Amino acid sequence: MAHPAGLLWLSRDLRLGDNPALLAAIADGPLLPVFLVDRMTRAQGAASRWRLARGLAAFDRALKERTGGRGLCILEGEAEEIFPPLMRRLDLGRLHQSDWPTAAMRSAQGRLRAALAAEGRSLILHPGHLLVHPRAVQSGTGGTYKVFTPFARAVERTGPESPAPDAPLRIVAFADPPAGIAPAALDLAPDMRRGRAALERFALPAGETAALARLDAFLDSAASYSENRDRPDIAATSNLSEHLALGEIGPRALWARARMHARLAPAQAAGIGKFLSEVIWREFAWHLLIAFPQMAEACWRPEWEAFPWRKDGPGLEGWKRASTGVALVDAGLREMWVTGRMHNRVRMVVASWLTKHLLTDWRAGLAHFADCLTDWDPAANAMNWQWVAGCGPDAAPYFRIFNPERQAEQFDPEGRYRRRWLAGFAGNPGPEAQAWHDSIPLSWTVPACWRPGPAAALSTGRAAALASLAAFRSQTPED
Ligand SMILES: Cc1cc2nc3c(=O)[nH]c(=O)nc-3n(C[C@H](O)[C@H](O)[C@H](O)COP(=O)(O)OP(=O)(O)OC[C@H]3O[C@@H](n4cnc5c(N)ncnc54)[C@H](O)[C@@H]3O)c2cc1C
Repeated sequence: MAHPAGLLWLSRDLRLGDNPALLAAIADGPLLPVFLVDRMTRAQGAASRWRLARGLAAFDRALKERTGGRGLCILEGEAEEIFPPLMRRLDLGRLHQSDWPTAAMRSAQGRLRAALAAEGRSLILHPGHLLVHPRAVQSGTGGTYKVFTPFARAVERTGPESPAPDAPLRIVAFADPPAGIAPAALDLAPDMRRGRAALERFALPAGETAALARLDAFLDSAASYSENRDRPDIAATSNLSEHLALGEIGPRALWARARMHARLAPAQAAGIGKFLSEVIWREFAWHLLIAFPQMAEACWRPEWEAFPWRKDGPGLEGWKRASTGVALVDAGLREMWVTGRMHNRVRMVVASWLTKHLLTDWRAGLAHFADCLTDWDPAANAMNWQWVAGCGPDAAPYFRIFNPERQAEQFDPEGRYRRRWLAGFAGNPGPEAQAWHDSIPLSWTVPACWRPGPAAALSTGRAAALASLAAFRSQTPED
């Protein structure tokens, strides 16, 4: 079979640097880069679909600069419907793709491979989404590490793979691509109503150039990261998670750039080291998801399926509406609704309140996060929810119940973060607080002024969680 075009199926690799699949497609012939609006895309939450469309538009612009005007080809349909006839028509033997190892992608790839095999055509997967191949870091017993610290040590020992070279400055594009949807006109979240204006207002720039600029700016000030990364009232973290989730920057290139920066600027080195250990948490989540593809649906420790979590009810509804009466929890949920982001420390507190104090199934929280986060990542979201709930492989022990008041005193000591998000908390709220009121569904009847709930909820919720655990343990011996 001839290769008159280099066919590339893009998914979460919207970048020109460290993209081996893109390089392989370019080597095959004039580039034909395709993104599919398929069932997987439509099943994503609204905010992450909205962010994906911005990422696609940014990648399209970057591509056009290199090709002299030809960008992404966006088609609607499933891989097994679109690619076989396209490859037949163009007489192509190979389709290249960066590996994005989720269960849904694996089954889409399986259906596509079955359709292609009969005609002697193939789908070729390339690395780049992870720092290291999962087979390169295995525990002593030959499986995936289930505890973070030895996993992180093994990643450091093995060393991340080197990034691939950047794509050439001039890329020859395939001249006759199928007619598709114009990336600038693509609306992947037509179901998003009042929330859209707020997301647009608070959005960070999308795309690879923005990701690299953000990384460099962060690395220049990384010295304070270790000290301040847990403070939601201080902008101390990198905010790179959206870029990493869409592959606007690859972890291998990020790692190499950060290490180089640490060598050149020793004052930042300790902060950069801590930052890279957080990047290994992302890696850990993906290695766990590969080993346990049902991680978003099922408890890693199966005995936890019997835990009597509530599935719905007023507690969950009040939590989703950011109206629990607990300031740090409500502030975090409002931040996520308005910006699509939430500080990591606050994510832990918010998740703990739902799964412990409200004894609600972690999957309900995971689904709400998946709907609202612009950095939604199937592996990080699932691992962290299971970690907080206590049912994951390397979970926080169940008896560790975050006390939101104490967390707030420690990490938002002057109340700046809570004041920014809650009109009525104390003093003048930030414009962010009003943006939340302006963007919530009209059906949510929420008072204009935030009010604290009964102080006793903290201790009664904690006591109820501990009692449930004691009852559960007496019936279900753990491990
Ligand atoms: C319940 C819960 C759900 C979460 N859901 C997601 C999600 O859907 N998508 C997502 O990217 N992160 C998720 N996280 C992890 C973390 O909160 C975010 O990655 C982080 O807040 C992003 O901000 P940053 O880029 O400024 O992080 P930084 O502190 O600058 O960290 C750098 C990078 O390391 C990675 N990282 C940091 N912390 C974690 C972590 N705990 N787990 C995995 N990777 C981490 C991220 O890629 C991040 O961009 C979740 C955490 C919790 C507790």
